[in-house]
Amino acid sequence: VIRLAGVTKQFGATTALRGADLEVARGEIVVLLGLSGSGKSTLLRHLDGLETPTSGSIEVLGSSVPALKGKALRSLRSRVGFIFQQFELVPSLTVLENVLTGSLSSVRGPRLGLWGYSKDAKLRALGHLERVGLLDRAYQRSDTLSGGQQQRVAIARALMQRPEILLADEPVASLDPESSDQVMALIREIAADQGLTVVCSLHQVDLAISWADRIVGLRHGEVVLNTSTTGLSKAEVMEIYGRVATTTA
Ligand code: ATP
Ligand code: MG
Repeated sequence: VIRLAGVTKQFGATTALRGADLEVARGEIVVLLGLSGSGKSTLLRHLDGLETPTSGSIEVLGSSVPALKGKALRSLRSRVGFIFQQFELVPSLTVLENVLTGSLSSVRGPRLGLWGYSKDAKLRALGHLERVGLLDRAYQRSDTLSGGQQQRVAIARALMQRPEILLADEPVASLDPESSDQVMALIREIAADQGLTVVCSLHQVDLAISWADRIVGLRHGEVVLNTSTTGLSKAEVMEIYGRVATTTA
C-alpha cells in the first residue's frame, strides 16, 4: 500500500532524504529508526502529502501522492491517520469533542461543542473512546488528562476517519516507559483488529524490535537498514544498534 522509490528531499542546503526506497504491504507494522535529524518525520510527512519530494516517486493506496491536489489529496488524507509526539489535541475542548474533530478529516478546523455532529458520529466517537479505555473521561477537558491518556484520545480521533494507514511520528517520545508500552500495545491491537497498516517512527531500538514486524533504519536521510524483526539473533540486534545509533559511516 506504500511504495517510495528513490525519494530525495532537499531543504535548501540540507538533504533530508537521499534516494530512499521503501515498500510497505497492507497490514504491516513498520518502525522507522534513526537519530535526530535522520529524516524520519520528513519521510512520514511525504506519505501524507505534507511534503513534496525533490525527486523520486511516492505511491500510497494506489495514488501518486506528489501529483494529488485539492479534493484528491483530501480524499487520500482521509484514508491516512496521523498521530504526533505532542498529541495536538485542542486543550479547551472535552475529550469527546476532540475525538469528534477527527470525523472532519482535516477539511475544516475544529467545530466547537457537540452540535453539528451526527448521532452516528457521536456513537462512533464514544465507541472509540471505549476502545482506548477512556469512555469515563469523555466529558472532561482534554488538558486534564495525563500524556498517555491524551495520546490514546489522539488515537481515537485518528480512528474517526476510518483510516487504512496510520502514521505515527514518535508517538511515545514524551511519555514515561509504562505509558509508552501501553500506547504502543494499543496501537498494535487496534491495527490487528482493523487491518491497519502502520508506519511509526521511534527512538527506542528495543521497543522497535519487540513491537514492529519490520524495522527501517535511516541515517542522514538514507535507508541503511530494512529487516524483519522475526528471529533476529543477538548479533543482528547489535548490528541494528550500530547502524542506527552511530553517527560515523
Ligand atoms: P527527530 O528524531 O529529531 O524528530 P527526524 O529523523 O524526524 O529527527 P527530520 O525532522 O525528518 O528528522 O529532519 C531531517 C533533516 O531535514 C534535518 O536536518 C532537518 O533540520 C531538516 N528539515 C526538516 N524539515 C525541514 C524544513 N521544513 N526546513 C528545513 N529543513 C528541514
Ligand atoms: Mg522527527
